[in-house]
Amino acid sequence: VSQPVALRPLADWVVNVERDAPGEPGVRSTVLLGERYTVVFDTLYSPRDMAPVSELADRRRRPVLVVNSHADYDHVWGNGAFPLASIVGHEACRERFLDDGDVAATLRRLLPESPEEYSLVVLRPPDVTFSERLAIDAGGFSIVLHHLPGHKRDCIVAHVPEHGLLLGGDTIEDPIPLLDDGPLGAWSAALRAWAARTDVHTVIPSHGPVSGTELLVRNADYLDSLRDGPAGWEPPPDAAPFYERAHARNVRRAADLTA
Ligand SMILES: [Zn+2]
Repeated sequence: VSQPVALRPLADWVVNVERDAPGEPGVRSTVLLGERYTVVFDTLYSPRDMAPVSELADRRRRPVLVVNSHADYDHVWGNGAFPLASIVGHEACRERFLDDGDVAATLRRLLPESPEEYSLVVLRPPDVTFSERLAIDAGGFSIVLHHLPGHKRDCIVAHVPEHGLLLGGDTIEDPIPLLDDGPLGAWSAALRAWAARTDVHTVIPSHGPVSGTELLVRNADYLDSLRDGPAGWEPPPDAAPFYERAHARNVRRAADLTA
């Protein structure tokens, strides 16, 4: 069943878009309001989630660029809401869309469970791809996309240096990130490097509250504990069952990756 989506401006150039997900952490998309482009970072579960964002973009009368943080379904199934937009993502994100056993298989699995929600989904892969880094002049500020594999191999982050903002996608998460593809060591090192930069102040994960650089360090410490042991995460008393399961899965996955 579809959930309401709430739009909230964080500043005059950035809008937070949040959606609850029963049994899972809530997820967000972030809209960057450039003079030249309206840039939509992630499109959530379906074009319906993006209806208020597409209305906002129509009112602004700027061309839309969609950026996909990675090809997981809670981040990209709303791409079809922007039929005229270019979709930007890592080249591995496009590969995952074109792999019949990945994005398309997830849709085949979930469609029967929520046909009223997912029948609107149109799988639109990125048509503009990059391997390491891609810079966008949004008009008034820039958005620099960086490959940062770890959660998934196609994960990226988006940096807005003029405003000290880092959009982390699922490469950072509160309370803990989810380890799937790795590599583990390079991932935590990259998070520490971002935390040390003077042009990063606000850190926004796709799941979890708007934060500062301390979230980068906390996630890096956690990832190092998965690699080096002891896996140092005590679930806080209110930790959702989702994250207790995620931690157990992370410990097993880290053992596989470091074996
Ligand atoms: Zn996610």
